[in-house]
Amino acid sequence: MSGAEQLSAALSAMENEIVWDAEAAYAAAVELERQADALGDETLVVRARLCRICMEMRTGDLEGAARQLDDIHDWAVAHDDSNLQARTHLTWANIRRLSGDLAQCLEHSLSAVELLDESATPYMQVTHRTRLADALGLNGAIDAARARYRQAEELARELHQWELLTMLLNNWAYTEYSSGDFSRAQQVARRLQEHATTHGPELDPAALDTIGVIQIENGEYAEAVQTMRLCIARHAAGYSDDADDLAEYHLTLARAQRGLGAFDEAQAGLDASQALCVERKLHQVLVRVYQEQAELHAARGEYAEAFRMHKIFTDASDGLQSRQAEVQAQTRLALFERAEAREDAELFREQARRDPLTGLPNRRYIDEELPGLIATDPELTVAIVDLDHFKQINDRLSHDVGDQVLVQTARILESRLTAAAPDGFVARLGGEEFLLVLPRTSDAVAAVQLDDIRKAVSTYGWQEITGGLPVTASIGVAGMHDVRTRSQAAVLSVADRNLYTAKRAGRNRVVSG
Ligand code: GH3
Ligand code: MG
Ligand code: MG
Repeated sequence: MSGAEQLSAALSAMENEIVWDAEAAYAAAVELERQADALGDETLVVRARLCRICMEMRTGDLEGAARQLDDIHDWAVAHDDSNLQARTHLTWANIRRLSGDLAQCLEHSLSAVELLDESATPYMQVTHRTRLADALGLNGAIDAARARYRQAEELARELHQWELLTMLLNNWAYTEYSSGDFSRAQQVARRLQEHATTHGPELDPAALDTIGVIQIENGEYAEAVQTMRLCIARHAAGYSDDADDLAEYHLTLARAQRGLGAFDEAQAGLDASQALCVERKLHQVLVRVYQEQAELHAARGEYAEAFRMHKIFTDASDGLQSRQAEVQAQTRLALFERAEAREDAELFREQARRDPLTGLPNRRYIDEELPGLIATDPELTVAIVDLDHFKQINDRLSHDVGDQVLVQTARILESRLTAAAPDGFVARLGGEEFLLVLPRTSDAVAAVQLDDIRKAVSTYGWQEITGGLPVTASIGVAGMHDVRTRSQAAVLSVADRNLYTAKRAGRNRVVSG
């Protein structure tokens, strides 16, 4: 074989196989491009460049890859090489998909199939059609996607492209899953598993993850745990060395374990996933880790924590949409990272004890601080402040205005409390409920101060935030004389009972005793 023939064969191999290790394939493509340059064979140079560009895209340089594609496409058009044009279109389609431009992704995917001619390899025939089906699915054209998957499947079977059939069924199952049709997703996932058993090769971790998430949606938690254990074991065995995916797999396993009620295992898996996200800056997975953490708290009945995590999740997911908020998410991530690097647990502790919306101490802080005060201060006064008809503010104005009211209320309470009891504190109990803690304050003095605080809320200039809608608060008080046992639960329950009385008596008042 001549040098050119050898090189062409090496390029064909690269063009016609599923690449698992994009970094290694990139290095190989660079070498092939060098050899093609040395031979001075233009066609081979262009093919090698396209391989290299595909790998650049795979390793994350979308812009760089897109910039270089035009030249290749122009060359392919000028030389009437329609298969090469089909391949540049497929690469464009992938770049558009990765950058979120789904309409353009579909356009290019269509061209990538239309331009295939009879000399296209079986690999191209199947992958281009599969990609078109994927693009249709991403654009919500699920019926059209199914038809294309079916065609591609027939072709793959005819051509004995078993590895491609695995990829195809995996993508198909995922498309059904994403469209919300979990039972169809399940059927395709079963066919995927059957296919792997009859034709091998063993399912790779990505396919197992697809199966795992589908099992979870169908409530098959035990099966999903099994699938994900296998997935992670195969990943460890070096099936794919894309370490980024491992964060995703741990997350799926944690979701399955939560479904089974194995909360501690689920937490351990989430922690593992979060650590990987932090290490590798996987923002999108991290956001879903937050979301799952909120679900896990809720499943454990830790509603305040669940709410806090949910808030962090919504903040972070907004953050993925707007650029400005993306910077915030990165800053948060940088904070996590720095904290990790320094093993600075204190920063985590501090963050974990604050409510992100108002900046006030949260329930966890209360649980840490209050029992000590209750045990040692016979003149401690504790009060629960609950905004009146707060739901109406959300409903009539907006949730965002509701948030602003909460933030402003927090400021009023904080400044008033600092004046009344400098060594006390205000915390957010959750929702529109706050806790005031006044050490060494007699009941009589507390009653006056708390009524001042109530007035400070109702007379604040709310006009700017709520328009005409008034904001008032009811306050339930508990002193140490009011409780039989000096426990946090007993104190809070007395305050809560008094708060309820205040509400029933018409709101905007303080009830103690
Ligand atoms: P009441 O006078 O009896 O206390 O009535 P209410 O409407 O204040 O009480 P309810 O408990 O029915 O409603 C509380 C509302 O607070 C419901 C919930 O949607 C809202 N809420 C809880 N947390 C937040 C938050 O962080 N931001 C906003 N904007 N609303 C919240
Ligand atoms: Mg309430
Ligand atoms: Mg309320």
